[in-house]
Amino acid sequence: MNAAIFYPVFLKANGVTIDSRKVKTGDVFFAFSGESFDAATLAEDAVNRGAVAVIVENEAFANASRQIFYVPSTLEFLQELASYHRQQLDIPVIALTGSNGKTTTKEIIHAVLSQKYNVQFTQGNLNNHIGVPLTLLSINKTHEMAVVEMGANHQKEIEFLCGIAKPTIGYITNFGKAHLEGFGGVEGVIKGKSELYEYLQQNDGKILLNENDQIQLEKTAGYPHLITFGRESSDYFFNEINEQNFVGLNYKAENALSRLTGAYNFTNLCAAASLGFNFGLNFTQIKTAIENYQPQNMRSQIMQKAGKTLVLDTYNANPSSMTEALKNFSNFEGSKTVIMGDMLELGAESDTEHASILREAESLGFEEIITVGENFKKINNISQAYSNAAEFIEMLRQNPLTSKNILLKASRGIALEAVLDYI
Ligand code: ATP
Ligand code: MG
Repeated sequence: MNAAIFYPVFLKANGVTIDSRKVKTGDVFFAFSGESFDAATLAEDAVNRGAVAVIVENEAFANASRQIFYVPSTLEFLQELASYHRQQLDIPVIALTGSNGKTTTKEIIHAVLSQKYNVQFTQGNLNNHIGVPLTLLSINKTHEMAVVEMGANHQKEIEFLCGIAKPTIGYITNFGKAHLEGFGGVEGVIKGKSELYEYLQQNDGKILLNENDQIQLEKTAGYPHLITFGRESSDYFFNEINEQNFVGLNYKAENALSRLTGAYNFTNLCAAASLGFNFGLNFTQIKTAIENYQPQNMRSQIMQKAGKTLVLDTYNANPSSMTEALKNFSNFEGSKTVIMGDMLELGAESDTEHASILREAESLGFEEIITVGENFKKINNISQAYSNAAEFIEMLRQNPLTSKNILLKASRGIALEAVLDYI
């Protein structure tokens, strides 16, 4: 079976799922086999629960009269169907990649463009070889555009995802020190992420460009279809404003203050606002979106707790985002405690990067620096070091933190947000 043949079934379906527990009436269920489990065994049950079709990669379970179809690879078929569906849609598709800030920027872009259009966008962090196809398959004919987050931790991944999503506009949030292991260093990151630019340049797409980023400028030099921001001479120019640790945009005589913290979020806001203008929104609409957007995803979230100001940034961490978070936090008024968890997936650079972040934190004059995780622990002989969140929580039970401001930042694997309950 190929995607074109199956397409009419998909068009009549309500949605697509890869999780048998989530199958609802009218869904197509893609049964992925795991190492020790064959999801094809769930096909009949999915049909009984209302699935309009099931895709299995185990021929023994195929049953045309029950709409259970065999394909050699469920994953490849999902990607093929997504690609085919994308081809039938004549709408702008905005693709985002970069080392940091993809999800945040995607959410703000969605908030902005939704002021005028019906926009489909990546749910959560579904940004890989499965998430991107699922996002595309969730676009229906009521949607006027889509914002697709693309993650990558090795070369050729973005190229592959572009082949499926066929973006018409693309933006790289930044080139930073993330997934160094898989990419092979920073140069590898730049090369890998730039596959988005290459795709757009080969297909006459538009590139949203931060003209403050030297590498991005070089990578797009001479390309005619740019939407630029960052400099006074850019297509769109904003000044940064800060009020009570929240960052915002000033545009001509007007201000739009967000609920986000951190200078890096100024860049994210600029990107979204520039796209907004590019799609014909006015600043009032952009301002409404920016002011109403509430981060709720442990990314640069500011909260008040027990009379303290907490910055919760425990969704992920790498040397670039850690540096930005530390610098931003150092501007907070009053006493400051920094709680840094390990930055994972750094490969051979890990010890050096942890040491350098620790020195950086030291140089910023915080009242207290605490590290959580083995990577920091083995190089941290200057301040409090805990092996994991549980060990740190044990200490907290006896000795509550006293600073007025607290930054919590770590990679996902450290689950540092567990500490919140003890502050
Ligand atoms: P992932 O690779 O997990 O999908 P992501 O690229 O989607 O990550 P976000 O989840 O949006 O990134 O943000 C993660 C953290 O990165 C934020 O909490 C913040 O600390 C930092 N960050 C956000 N935007 C930027 C930026 N433009 N430049 C540098 N760091 C940023
Ligand atoms: Mg993300």
